[in-house]
Amino acid sequence: MNARSQIEGMTSTFIRPELSQWLVCPRDKENLRVDGNALLCAQGHRYAVVEGIPILLVSDVEQTHIEGTRSIQVAESGDASLLPQFNVGPKEIDPFVQKAIGATNGGLYQYLIDNLPEYPIPNLRLPPGQNRMFLEIGCNWGRWCFSAARAGYRVIGIDPSLKSIRAANRVARQLGISAMFLVADGRYLPFRDGSFEQVFSYSTLQHLSKGNAASVLSEIQRVLCLGGHSLVQMPNVFGVRCLYHEIRRGFHEGRDFDVRYWRPGELLRTFRERIGPSTLSVDGYFSLNPQVSDMHLMPLRFRALVLASEGLRRISRFVPILANVADSLYVSSEKPRL
Ligand SMILES: [Zn+2]
Repeated sequence: MNARSQIEGMTSTFIRPELSQWLVCPRDKENLRVDGNALLCAQGHRYAVVEGIPILLVSDVEQTHIEGTRSIQVAESGDASLLPQFNVGPKEIDPFVQKAIGATNGGLYQYLIDNLPEYPIPNLRLPPGQNRMFLEIGCNWGRWCFSAARAGYRVIGIDPSLKSIRAANRVARQLGISAMFLVADGRYLPFRDGSFEQVFSYSTLQHLSKGNAASVLSEIQRVLCLGGHSLVQMPNVFGVRCLYHEIRRGFHEGRDFDVRYWRPGELLRTFRERIGPSTLSVDGYFSLNPQVSDMHLMPLRFRALVLASEGLRRISRFVPILANVADSLYVSSEKPRL
């Protein structure tokens, strides 16, 4: 790691040096240097830094999320004073998270909007981090990153939404958690080849077209070290709840931020082609995607659903065919060693 050069001229007041050492131009993967209040690559690609947050989006391609377009607008205006400021008390739940919880955590969390008594930080189904590098793609306000940091990983979270990344920074400070966040696009990762031992993504690739999702997988493969792992949650076309949604929308493929449903065989084939040897396991049934660790926040009828899902998940470890009808699957992949 010592061989990696830090971004030339970078100071800790501008952007955290422990973050800058990993960054490259998302377009051509060239080194970046500081140029005024921005980062610049040798090819002339320029990226604004807003409140110490690098906006490493590729502005001349179609964005996968409206918040990506908004982040680019803030970067191009150069006027961070337009951003809303939040003064969050030590015991308070961040107002952004209070609003976003229904969108980031799924349907069963809708009634917690503006009513969240604590941060729902899930249990990561990964071994202890032992100081290994962890990247989350589509981290929003950072719940999985916080879980990974507590498990001992060195964490970087990316999201196209500047609003989400600002919230992630605030919550990290509030919780006293060390994690790094920046604005970036999974299709154009701004990291050096082989930077991460673990890549994770939850409830993110399901919102991309299958072509865009495949592009993200190729980038995951690139930034993983040899023998590195990825764990990506995806929805199953044969899940009971997923089938219900597909029938409601007449089985059309989906557009914009709609969920795209994948067949288990299609997931395995695509992940094997793009990353390496891959296996499927169950995340849950009946919904996308409540966490057992959040059950105490839910009304009784939802707890019953989560318990039934968790029971089926445990059984699926011994009856693998049950994975075929789970609504939410994990795809675990390994980048082959040479
Ligand atoms: Zn460049």
